[in-house]
Amino acid sequence: MSAPLTISGALPVYEDYARCVHCGLCLNHCPTYRLWQLEADSPRGRIRQMVLEAEGQIPLSSHFVEHIDKCLDCRSCETACPSGVEYGKLVEYARAKIAMRYNRPWLSRLARSFFFQHLLPHPERIAAFAKFLRFYQKSGLQSVVRSTKLLRLLGLAEREKLLPTIDEEFFFAQLGKTFPATGPLRSRVAFFAGCIANVTFTKLNEATIRVLTANGCEVLVPGEQFCCGALAAHAGEREAARKLARKNLRAFGQGNFDAILTNAAGCGSTLKEYGHLFAKDEPEYAAATAFGGLVKDVTEFLAKLGLSARLKPLTARVTYQDSCHLLHGQRVREAPRQLLRAIPGVDFSELPFSDICCGSAGIYNVTQTEASLGLLAEKMSYAVGTRAKIIATANPGCLLQLRAGAELHRTGQEVLHIVELLDRALER
Ligand code: SF4
Ligand code: SF4
Repeated sequence: MSAPLTISGALPVYEDYARCVHCGLCLNHCPTYRLWQLEADSPRGRIRQMVLEAEGQIPLSSHFVEHIDKCLDCRSCETACPSGVEYGKLVEYARAKIAMRYNRPWLSRLARSFFFQHLLPHPERIAAFAKFLRFYQKSGLQSVVRSTKLLRLLGLAEREKLLPTIDEEFFFAQLGKTFPATGPLRSRVAFFAGCIANVTFTKLNEATIRVLTANGCEVLVPGEQFCCGALAAHAGEREAARKLARKNLRAFGQGNFDAILTNAAGCGSTLKEYGHLFAKDEPEYAAATAFGGLVKDVTEFLAKLGLSARLKPLTARVTYQDSCHLLHGQRVREAPRQLLRAIPGVDFSELPFSDICCGSAGIYNVTQTEASLGLLAEKMSYAVGTRAKIIATANPGCLLQLRAGAELHRTGQEVLHIVELLDRALER
């Protein structure tokens, strides 16, 4: 199997594909196979297509691209696979190939170039674009546009509903600051703030810092940090992801701390796997691997450290949706549940099929809106069945998707990140 030299970083080899023994045990764990019952939209079917394409037996055609695009990169198949197939690596490589060799429609190329090359790597542009969106949302323009048929005519009506609300204050203002621990110092940590989260999840980031400091952590927020590159890596924009990784290696490289923490599971899984973006003989490889070893999801870190802050009771039934990139990408299952159970008064109720994606999956809800909404509808029906007042999760993307789900399906449920619940329970 030939691997093109033009794609940089660690590349999968023949054995990575050959590990798939076609047993099919992953099929019922795959959200897209569950939706459409099509082999071509299953992990086994997609791996087969990747092999056939690499061997030159099928072309890199729109047909191939469609099945790879429809994959959520949720990695549920990795958890299910008894043979140890690292599917995430394979699909990201297939997407990198598509990005380099396949001519997408011009509008799609324009949107990808704007988002991955000209927006995400530039914090000042994220802030400027967010201010424009905030004006759209707050000025009444959004209501006017929604009342016309314009969005429906452009095919954007469903996507527009998924737009996050832009914050009044941006978390960018907190970059470069250090927040002291409350009480005896138990740990020094660096906080990774995200990219879009700086303009849409300021309150979540602030709550994360409050919970950490209340539990004896000094929190440093490095000033020169950038987007982690997860969205770019998942979309096959490998060079964009590598550039961002290099910047973050510089920003966090000199610090003296016990861990690098994130409250975004999607970012966390890419940050932990920075080593995958570089080949072993590249100069960044050692630093990227060491960096990855320091990264922890905030729930994983807090569960291990143990909660020392006093918590007041929160009397509510709570259910939990696993974030795919926490459960399948990082294999963190118990820590979030342990933290929820530690809050006095919480009546924890397991969500059936919580290990199946909610349809958020990075930009999947924008690029594959129909499939995403189908998955969301199923998710919300299970969430209603738990009779939980609060749906907790551990990733901003899942929060947005589930909040949209609660609104669309009128479930009346509140959707919160686990650290937001912990923050609410802190005795101040
Ligand atoms: S479970 Fe693993 S080995 Fe079996 S078909 Fe799926 S990817 Fe292949
Ligand atoms: S990553 Fe998710 S959607 Fe893609 S093949 Fe695996 S289970 Fe299916």
